[in-house]
Amino acid sequence: MVAIPIRESALLSSVGRVPLVEIHAVREQAPGCRVFATLEGVNPGGSIKDRPVVRMLMKALQTGRLDAGRRLLDSSSGNAGISYALYGAALGVPVTLVVPGNASRERLDRIRASGAELILTDPLEGYDFAVAEARRLARAHPERYWYCDQYSNPENWRAHYDTTGPELLRGVMASTGRPPDAFVAGIGTGGTLTGVARRLKEAHPATVVIAAIPDEFPGIEGLKPLGHPGDMVPAILDESLIDRRLPVRMEDAIPMCRRLAKAGLFVGPSAGALVHIACRVALEDRSRCIATVLPDTGERYVSTGLWAGTDEQQENGKDREPLMHGGVPW
Ligand code: PMP
Repeated sequence: MVAIPIRESALLSSVGRVPLVEIHAVREQAPGCRVFATLEGVNPGGSIKDRPVVRMLMKALQTGRLDAGRRLLDSSSGNAGISYALYGAALGVPVTLVVPGNASRERLDRIRASGAELILTDPLEGYDFAVAEARRLARAHPERYWYCDQYSNPENWRAHYDTTGPELLRGVMASTGRPPDAFVAGIGTGGTLTGVARRLKEAHPATVVIAAIPDEFPGIEGLKPLGHPGDMVPAILDESLIDRRLPVRMEDAIPMCRRLAKAGLFVGPSAGALVHIACRVALEDRSRCIATVLPDTGERYVSTGLWAGTDEQQENGKDREPLMHGGVPW
């Protein structure tokens, strides 16, 4: 086994250095309520997935599980794929990603630009097929691939337990003098929810953990519509941490996204969905202080039409073309 030398760089240590912002939108509707969120789009890879990806990669290199001669393999069509490609390039690790063929051009081009290999699967087979194909390849060619498996890799949730969770706790304490009453998260791999919720509940067992779940197809990019028969529940998701599950729709997420953009927070649809749910919870109980995350940058959704048109067109958005290409959980 030949170890890959670990190149420490300023790039790697900048991951997770993101601001905690207060979402003032809620104040008009629910005076006395406060909502805080980490602005994850400022990570070098543009999303929250930089945190677990760097952690999983470093752990695999340090333990020698990922050695020279093998490629990192995983399935992803979005944020995780971009992070794998970026940090693989920075660390000199070759990367292969299994991706449904209908992933957007800007994502695929960005992944290719970092030098990662793409294996495209039939879009009609859906995202779970890309996951199954990655598993098949990993089993068939163990000498060629190290399978990172973000849905089962415990370093995924540990990244959030060690970084995102403490940052939210520290930031909210510094601003309000007390811990958040509630934490809102979506579920893609379940890494964010499991890691942050575990940390917050260990520090303050009364923290209420709320999962925002898209309740219809095509859902919201990055978030799994869990709860239907046959849904693949991620192995790292600890469902016992969830106190409430609230449904959320694209029609809730988009207006909130646009409102956030007008307030200087240019974020993607899952951020709109999480803030929408945080505001709903704040309205239900006016004494609450709520923490959440803004998972990615709005830049990533330009080609979907999310930002297109005048304010007037946006208000009348119902008769426009469908905004998202997706519902693809990654
Ligand atoms: N939002 C977006 C935009 C994402 O890409 C992801 C990652 N799939 C999530 C939310 C959910 O994060 P996690 O994988 O930690 O559950």
